Amino acid sequence: KEFRNNVKPNWCPGCGDFSVQASIQRAAANVGLEPEQLAVVSGIGCSGRISGYINCYGFHGVHGRALPIAQGLKMANRELTVIAAGGDGDGFAIGMGHTVHAIRRNMNITYIVMDNQIYGLTKGQTSPRSATGFVTKSTPAGSIESAISPIELALSVGATFVAQSFSSDLKGLTELIEMGIKHEGFSLINVFSPCVTYNKVNTYDWFKENIVPVDTIEGYDPHNRIKAMAASMEHKGLLTGLIYQNKEQKPYEQLVAGFKEQGLASQDIRLSDEDFAKLVAEFA
Ligand code: SF4
Repeated sequence: KEFRNNVKPNWCPGCGDFSVQASIQRAAANVGLEPEQLAVVSGIGCSGRISGYINCYGFHGVHGRALPIAQGLKMANRELTVIAAGGDGDGFAIGMGHTVHAIRRNMNITYIVMDNQIYGLTKGQTSPRSATGFVTKSTPAGSIESAISPIELALSVGATFVAQSFSSDLKGLTELIEMGIKHEGFSLINVFSPCVTYNKVNTYDWFKENIVPVDTIEGYDPHNRIKAMAASMEHKGLLTGLIYQNKEQKPYEQLVAGFKEQGLASQDIRLSDEDFAKLVAEFA
């Protein structure tokens, strides 16, 4: 199964997004998908280009709107595996409202955030993931605001799958994406994906020194939401691995009342001449 295409990524050499692209391609192949069974929907930002770099259905949407498109796609075609992807600015600033509600809606979608803690495409401004004191062109005296923790945010609004990874860990990231695809419900995978051009603080070396894999925490239980929240707070949002999973909660599309098991793409929605005439008469 070939998820590579002929498009050469337009990312800076060393950008973390290369590994995320490779991990999605490997994970899709490992779970046995064919290219026509996968759709990748993205927003705007350097990372938003990813939907054009994978051999599958791709939709490069508008800023912060990858998730509404992905959810519409999934509702219309249940057969598709849908991955939404974007950056931390896309998902946690302009798209934050969609992110929160997509998490609590729990549709069967995998959302991969390439989190580099800065805006790369617009040449280096503070993002909602930048730490307090972070100096950029938009915050020359240092950011006054505090950084959002995607993990704690997701846990607090009822996420059923929360994971975090580092783009240098190709194997671990691939495994988490496979788990996210297989999870029945919404899976958030936040990936530390360094911007080598504009973020000189949160570098590869910085992450290597600061991340805390959950498998190094004795007795860590990814099925306990309260403990997952406490561990994330204790380790300043830098946990990596499967942080939380709830396999009991059914996805939205299995629960919504009166909705047919098949999506619109599989239904015959044409009206007979008789039904069409009735409809016209009703509104005449
Ligand atoms: Fe990657 Fe940063 Fe370059 Fe954008 S500007 S491609 S995020 S390294």
